[in-house]
Amino acid sequence: MQATIVTIPGDGIGVDVVAEGVKVLQAVAQKYGHTFTFENHLIGGCAIDAMGDPLPASTLDACQRADAVLLGAVGGPKWDDPTAKVRPEQGLLGLRKGLALYANLRPVQIFPQLRDASPLRPERLDGVDLVVVRELTGGLYFGPRKEATPDDDSAYDTMVYSGDEVRRIARKAFELARLRRKKVTSVDKANVLAASRLWRRVVVEIAAEYPDVTLEHMLVDSAAMHLMRRPADFDVIVTENMFGDILTDEASMLAGSMGMLASASLGEGKNGVYEPIHGSAPDIAGKGIANPLATILSAAMLLRYSLGLNEEAAAVEKAVADVVAAGYRTRDIYTDGTKLTHTKEMGSLICQRL
Ligand code: NAD
Repeated sequence: MQATIVTIPGDGIGVDVVAEGVKVLQAVAQKYGHTFTFENHLIGGCAIDAMGDPLPASTLDACQRADAVLLGAVGGPKWDDPTAKVRPEQGLLGLRKGLALYANLRPVQIFPQLRDASPLRPERLDGVDLVVVRELTGGLYFGPRKEATPDDDSAYDTMVYSGDEVRRIARKAFELARLRRKKVTSVDKANVLAASRLWRRVVVEIAAEYPDVTLEHMLVDSAAMHLMRRPADFDVIVTENMFGDILTDEASMLAGSMGMLASASLGEGKNGVYEPIHGSAPDIAGKGIANPLATILSAAMLLRYSLGLNEEAAAVEKAVADVVAAGYRTRDIYTDGTKLTHTKEMGSLICQRL
């Protein structure tokens, strides 16, 4: 197949890790006879420096025309002034909005050899393989709000959803569950919130279209507890924007290191933005020691969801598992007796395994 992939490394270690993601995608193309064309663009701090804009029109335009986007991270001390009008994160938010990406997928998988990296007892982690599907463009973060003022000591935010907004994210979750263990846990607060009662009613309505997928409902407080108590019972979790924000961070601790977790942001079409969940890690940027596996696993998601290349995606995931099993570790996941491995070397090892 032929595909155009836009790469936007961004700032800090984004540059180091996206380079390895591209290397792996090139190895996939070579092995399976595909032609991937890569177009590199700016976002975040480096785009502010070069063009005065965290999301230059040329970047957004290229992303809109592309089959998929592989992103690194944005931000760093140089652009940290909270009073600045132009900030690196505006690039990310603008990109999500510009591509209408309403579904954020964060898989959490435990590599058996990295069980000790999690703060949870290792036996709790057996069999953990879940994906959180977070609604990304609605809910509490986007409803009408009022700030407190010196004259008015009150403030509010509003959780607003339309049935259609819930329908489309629910469908994403059920479609995904079909590719996995066929179970959806819909997380809400339907005992208290009207928006959650709508959410629950619509999810039930969509579930009827997927009789092969099991649906369960869980209140968000209870979900937070069960994620720690019995994480292996979850397959696909679908939830509101802020609930998802909180639960995905909680769930990421199951895997131990930020350097291992991938994500995809998807909309209606096939195009999507794939990126590691970590930031630009200025403390280790340019040192060649960042863990590129989250980005490489994001590239595997890109192959699966945007390009429909399931076999290739699985091959990348297996190569990552093999390299970890063989004892290769970047510094963030290094333990005594394993082999300390640099960023580029890690990328090359994945390519060799492929
Ligand atoms: P961070 O994720 O960049 O780093 C947190 C810690 O984890 C650091 O010690 C870092 O060295 C380590 N780490 C992160 N990724 C790693 C990897 N791949 N390999 C090895 N170690 C890794 O979060 P932070 O320090 O809070 O933020 C740094 C900058 O990144 C800030 O400017 C922040 O705004 C930005 N940020 C960007 C994104 C994004 O682009 N999506 C997300 C979070 C933070």
